[in-house]
Amino acid sequence: MDKEQLHEYRKKRNFRISSEPKGKSLKKKKDKLIFVVQEHHASHLHYDFRLEWDGVLKSWAVPKGPSLDPKVKRLAVQTEDHPLEYAKFEGEIPKGEYGAGEVFIWDAGTWEAEVEDIDEALEKGNLKFKLKGKKLKGSFVLVRTHYNESRNKNWLLIKHKESAEKKLH
Ligand code: MN
Repeated sequence: MDKEQLHEYRKKRNFRISSEPKGKSLKKKKDKLIFVVQEHHASHLHYDFRLEWDGVLKSWAVPKGPSLDPKVKRLAVQTEDHPLEYAKFEGEIPKGEYGAGEVFIWDAGTWEAEVEDIDEALEKGNLKFKLKGKKLKGSFVLVRTHYNESRNKNWLLIKHKESAEKKLH
């Protein structure tokens, strides 16, 4: 997480009041990329979908939560990058603070990109990936509602249909 990203994350929060991690700018070295979905009982219940990439958690707020039905498209509003440590966070964000309410880990695991260039996919707004979680498994896509408009924060999270062949295994 670079300084600018960390600053944006920190300026919204009061760490003397909230037990959320303050974040480090250090990049962790490990081979598998993690993902987490946090059920967040804020003023409106939503599910924070986070993918580790480039030392941070790329984050989207999914009001209805991820769906395993390939026919269902779920709105996913991109939010600020979070520090990697946030993937472990569960607890109560105090009243009056940014995102006040309880946070539970709804699912977690690892992910793999199904695109050549993750940075380009994020920039253009079409990221295909595979999740290996407890609840979420298989291929998904995150696609920006207006392709190539990097300022647009609205994406759709959609389960990819597995091929018939894959289903046999
Ligand atoms: Mn949230």
